Amino acid sequence: MTRSIQGSGMTSRRTRERMIARLRDQGIRNNEVLAVMAEIPRHIFVDEALESRAYEDTALPIGHNQTISQPYIVARMTELLLEHGTPQKVLEIGTGCGYQTAVLASLVKQVYSVERIEPLVKKARDLLWRLNLKTIGFKHSDGSWGWPEQAPFDAIIAAAAPAEVPPALLEQLAVGGVLVIPVGGEAGQQLHRITRTEQGFEDEVIERVMFVPFLSGVSR
Ligand code: SAH
Repeated sequence: MTRSIQGSGMTSRRTRERMIARLRDQGIRNNEVLAVMAEIPRHIFVDEALESRAYEDTALPIGHNQTISQPYIVARMTELLLEHGTPQKVLEIGTGCGYQTAVLASLVKQVYSVERIEPLVKKARDLLWRLNLKTIGFKHSDGSWGWPEQAPFDAIIAAAAPAEVPPALLEQLAVGGVLVIPVGGEAGQQLHRITRTEQGFEDEVIERVMFVPFLSGVSR
């Protein structure tokens, strides 16, 4: 059965508007990001049983021990990515259910998304096609390697936290490009924004966060 993209009741446009008002209260300022999140039906990215909770500010399970990122963190990371001009070509590590991918694809020209769990890649690809978001390349791979064939990228975003930034992601950034990535282990993670300059890299620590771990290898 095909689920409704429109939604009703707890999944309606009005529920989304409330989510947007909350994101503003939480400090999200980028109107383009907020406008896109007001349109995308977040409820179709979660299990039908959890649909009514899709717009709460929480992470929810998407199977395979993974979670859909909470709306605040999706908005914040996207805002950080766009702050110094809209990137054209973006690499995402950790497609998951594809919600962040949908937000990115609505804002930039081309998105490349890498996920290590194969069934998640298939599901996200189908869903984003249904939403008519077709400027996305998908790859089932370990994101530690980035996507060398498509590099360099104007921006890279990671939805899982490594202990240290994978060197390939730094190498695949264009000069002027930004990498937004949570870094750290069980003792605590910080969100970083790393900008590639002519001379090297600038690293800003943004805020404390909690992401699933960045794992190596692939899973089928
Ligand atoms: N933005 C996604 C986040 C999903 S959770 C969403 O909202 O659904 C993070 C995702 O990163 C998981 O799907 C996990 O499988 C994936 N992941 C973890 N380590 C990875 C790696 N090395 N390469 C690619 N994907 C990875």
